[in-house]
Amino acid sequence: MSGFLVLLAQAALYSIVMGAIFLKRKTIGIGVFFCLLGTMHFLETYLAAVFFIELPFGLISPGSTVLFAGKLAFFLLLYIKEDAEAMRQPIYGLLSGNILTIALALILRFYSEPANLPGYNPDLRFIDQMGLLMIWGTTLLFADLVILVIVYERLGALLTKTITGRIFISLAVVLSFDQLLFFAGLHILAAVPTLAFYGGWIAKIGAAGFFSLMLAAYLRFLERDGSHAPAQGMADIFDRLTYRHRYEKLAEQIGRDALTGLQDRGRFDVAGPAMLQAAFQTDLSVSLMMIDIDHFKAINDRHGHVEGDHAIRAVAATIAAAKREGDQLFRYGGEEFALLCPQTPPGAMVLAERVRAAVAKSAATGLAQPVTISIGIATFPADARDFPGLLLKADAALYEAKTLGRNRVVSSSGAGSRPVSGHHQGEPNSPI
Ligand code: GH3
Ligand code: MG
Ligand code: MG
Repeated sequence: MSGFLVLLAQAALYSIVMGAIFLKRKTIGIGVFFCLLGTMHFLETYLAAVFFIELPFGLISPGSTVLFAGKLAFFLLLYIKEDAEAMRQPIYGLLSGNILTIALALILRFYSEPANLPGYNPDLRFIDQMGLLMIWGTTLLFADLVILVIVYERLGALLTKTITGRIFISLAVVLSFDQLLFFAGLHILAAVPTLAFYGGWIAKIGAAGFFSLMLAAYLRFLERDGSHAPAQGMADIFDRLTYRHRYEKLAEQIGRDALTGLQDRGRFDVAGPAMLQAAFQTDLSVSLMMIDIDHFKAINDRHGHVEGDHAIRAVAATIAAAKREGDQLFRYGGEEFALLCPQTPPGAMVLAERVRAAVAKSAATGLAQPVTISIGIATFPADARDFPGLLLKADAALYEAKTLGRNRVVSSSGAGSRPVSGHHQGEPNSPI
């Protein structure tokens, strides 16, 4: 009985440490968890080969029962919370590490005369044996994990309700398969007695039960589906030393337009359809405003491109300040902007008019004459049911705003386009 309790304590400690490091992967990186898996490997194989305890149902190995079954369980957790690609990395790492161990042990034989120190007798045969067992174990692990994923996925269709049952059956199936083959290896390489086979098998099924409960508890209480580990403050010294902040800054810059700092066309192409999809699912609407600066060629011609660039920046900033918080502004191209506004109509007109007026009033361009914009609006789902269609409609409305005299808003809604604003600043049709 006491052997059983020690086993349980070992399994609990293993689960807590592995689970805690896995949970922290979003802040400290998944590499820490991978190293932990690798570090456990030698002890696990060593114990599986030489360390057995006698329980009422047979000889069992704490190395196989706790460390190996636990490793499989955490690989399954890795698959559930990350993906098969994340799962593949530590297996390849383990395999290469084991092969390297054997290769280095072979090279050791080329030292002709290792010093003979009393009490220090290098046992290369032991390392060979461990190395071979580890390669065998890891090759099996590879097959185990493929089966584990297949069984887990298949069971998903049958057992949608109980994750514990699904994990338990997956682990039990794979551990039984593994016990058969790994034991054959142990028997041949380490002459482990047959008695250990049955005891080991029963113990592994028990371990499958224990770890499936641990995993289910983890998934239930520590990391529920969809909820990512909370982004934590950078308390860890390593976080400060890494280049994470630089990486984050760089990642933020990707997809930003260099001149205005607005999101670029690429992001627009992604964000637009996504916003429509979200609106479709929630039965809400989205308005798209295509915005073009009026007579911009003339501004360039008269003041030069440097002043022109400055004007584009100033207009971008004015639009950004006038839009609502949830609206997303993009630099669509040259002096054209796109504004995606969720849940706008009938307020889309009011909003567009506010943006237009803000630009017309603004002195931020620094130019003597005010710079104006024209806006074309189209709304999903009233005007178009997909994103390319919406873009086309907004563009047509913008074109109409230009032909109607510029510095105005035209909405695509209803039959035909209708100008909304007639507030012109200066001569609308003449270049500034
Ligand atoms: P409209 O009122 O019809 O829009 O007249 P427009 O002169 O603004 O015509 P259009 O929109 O076709 O012209 C855009 C001009 O903007 C053409 C190009 O030389 C200029 N442009 C585009 N990108 C930039 C930029 O990044 N910097 C500067 N300075 N000019 C740009
Ligand atoms: Mg243009
Ligand atoms: Mg223009």
